[in-house]
Amino acid sequence: MATVTHPLHTTTFKLPLPLRTEISHPHTLSIKASLSTNAPLPGRKLRAAVIGAGPAGSSAAEALASGGVETFLFERSPPTAAKPCGGAIPLCMLHEFDIPSHLIDRQVTQMRIISPSNLAVDFGKTLRANEFIAMLRREVLDSFLRSRAESRGANLVSGLVTDIEVPNTSSTAPYVVHYTANNSRHALSVDVVVGADGANSRVAKSIKAGNYACAIAFQERIKLPDEKMAYYENMAEMYVGNDVSPDFYAWVFPKCDHVAVGTGTVRAKQDIKAYQRGIRERVKPKIAGGKVIKVEAHPIPEHPRPIRVRGRVALVGDAAGYVTKCSGEGIYFAAKSGRMCGEGIVKASEGGDRMIEEKDLKREYLKAWDAKYISTFRFMDLLQRVFYGSNAAREALVELCGDEYVQRMTFDSYLYKRLAEGDRWEDVKMVCNTIGSLTRCNIVGS
Ligand SMILES: Cc1cc2nc3c(=O)[nH]c(=O)nc-3n(C[C@H](O)[C@H](O)[C@H](O)COP(=O)(O)OP(=O)(O)OC[C@H]3O[C@@H](n4cnc5c(N)ncnc54)[C@H](O)[C@@H]3O)c2cc1C
Repeated sequence: MATVTHPLHTTTFKLPLPLRTEISHPHTLSIKASLSTNAPLPGRKLRAAVIGAGPAGSSAAEALASGGVETFLFERSPPTAAKPCGGAIPLCMLHEFDIPSHLIDRQVTQMRIISPSNLAVDFGKTLRANEFIAMLRREVLDSFLRSRAESRGANLVSGLVTDIEVPNTSSTAPYVVHYTANNSRHALSVDVVVGADGANSRVAKSIKAGNYACAIAFQERIKLPDEKMAYYENMAEMYVGNDVSPDFYAWVFPKCDHVAVGTGTVRAKQDIKAYQRGIRERVKPKIAGGKVIKVEAHPIPEHPRPIRVRGRVALVGDAAGYVTKCSGEGIYFAAKSGRMCGEGIVKASEGGDRMIEEKDLKREYLKAWDAKYISTFRFMDLLQRVFYGSNAAREALVELCGDEYVQRMTFDSYLYKRLAEGDRWEDVKMVCNTIGSLTRCNIVGS
């Protein structure tokens, strides 16, 4: 069993975990006082705690550990626990995050969108060969990303983080992570904290990061008879209408041996079960004979938090509020923000050899993130406002989805997370079609 000492805080702990830590940071003040901003850390590495091992946390921990930072990844749930989630991820995530194809349950090539009046449009007609939406079970994806972070050197701590002691922001004093593991309490002093603990983030509370509005999403996993499952072989469905959600869409996503049927809302959270009955009613013949094997619900953040970096603490993924409106997509943005944050810390600390400061996190992570994605989030917000507000607008949305150019642009942007290269003439036509659809449905001009 290895004993590792941490000169800055004289915290000792033993590996393998669980950790038994004895913290005695008050008498290390003289050492801390001698440290200046971005000062070297002689004889030790920068130490980071990543709270939460979902896609955001595991990706952050992998980047940190690979880059030379001493990394502790805290997770309260066992590897078999499933985060409530539809599990749809874009193609680019498979490549960027080296996700092996055997983890994918379904390769969806048919995406059907169904209007309030049951007008159905096939939304995947323009997909090229080898293009698909990957459907995974979160327990499978999360376990894989977690193990990979461990294999790159992160110390996985199975425990519930209960509190974070935050030092005066101007000092280089440690953050103290309090956690319970194996029915006993522990604490660990660290230089940097990455809050990847999801929508109910305790880390966000500890740094007073402010609140965000949340939607609630509800989902049932339903095991279907083989002949019914065959229909959903490569097919995912999205339903819109006042009966299934006042401000979002309901879905049927295929998994290995079952479908996930769910819906979400911000405006009428108290009625979520009624909307779930609505989607079940709409798909009744398609799921007849099915058996509910799991019922799950979870909040989904609606926009980024007012504060995402404070002191040497950064929030990533759902904790930061990175779920796009309109599509409710958050897995890719969680993994990406975790990785960008981890890599930013590695860069600012020169491979874990120097202390970092708030301004480093803001420059290397926050600014880079906002420059890359904030306009996407604003655009998706606008789309949700325009198209999900009423049944008339939803009819217009479905009508527009029938346009092949709209499909191509939508899928290119979703699958590859880059602005699709359009055709100027087609763009003009798309704007005209949008106005035409909205006018026909009495959204514009009414
Ligand atoms: C019903 C539903 C369907 C969705 N469908 C999709 C979809 O199809 N595609 C998509 O892209 N997005 C979807 N999302 C959004 C997506 O699930 C999230 O955006 C994504 O999970 C965010 O990842 P994360 O790592 O930031 O947080 P999470 O996945 O929430 O992970 C947080 C982790 O932190 C751990 N944790 C929390 N607190 C503590 C603590 N105090 N101590 C230790 N560990 C802690 C949790 O156990 C968890 O493992 C859906 C969401 C919901 C609710």
